[in-house]
Amino acid sequence: VAVSALAIDAIRAAWAGVSGRLGAYGLLLPGSASFVCQAELCQAHCCRSFSVSLGDGEVARMAATGRQPITFLETEKGEPISLPLAQPYLLARRHGQCALLGRDLRCTAYEGRPDACRRYPHEVVFAGEGGLVRLEPAEQRAALEATVAGRAGSPLALLLGHRECPGFTGPALTLDGWAARLRETLELQLAGH
Ligand code: SF4
Repeated sequence: VAVSALAIDAIRAAWAGVSGRLGAYGLLLPGSASFVCQAELCQAHCCRSFSVSLGDGEVARMAATGRQPITFLETEKGEPISLPLAQPYLLARRHGQCALLGRDLRCTAYEGRPDACRRYPHEVVFAGEGGLVRLEPAEQRAALEATVAGRAGSPLALLLGHRECPGFTGPALTLDGWAARLRETLELQLAGH
């Protein structure tokens, strides 16, 4: 991976054009602190703040770790609630937090955890000269590879980190680490859609 200084400048410029609309996030570049979950610092903030929706594949993955879906999904009259959405199910919540959050602030279903939990606190957005752009999955992958390769032209893939998460304390992201995180985050975003 070789992202030129020019490409980094282009990413910064694209972010400057859209950051006002994405105030909950910061831009992550090669050299930014990487993410290492620090659940004890925030009392597992993310597991308390967010309702998590799941698709069929994610439910099957969690069920494969030996749990019955009615034990980890929100239910109504003993049946999982199913909404008319791409990700129809809701991860169960109890007492204002994820029902699977352990007393030790660790996830009790870590192996099978939903895609949203795997992705957090990262997000990928695409920005062109006119601001944020909506792209088809194949176009998103192509734009990401063009960004990583430092090829000119818009739109660019921007790797973002959620500001409320105190976990951005790890070693500086290398070029390869940044590119890998971009790809992994995008694939988790595209899964189930
Ligand atoms: S991911 Fe961030 S917000 Fe969630 S528990 Fe870890 S440090 Fe806290």
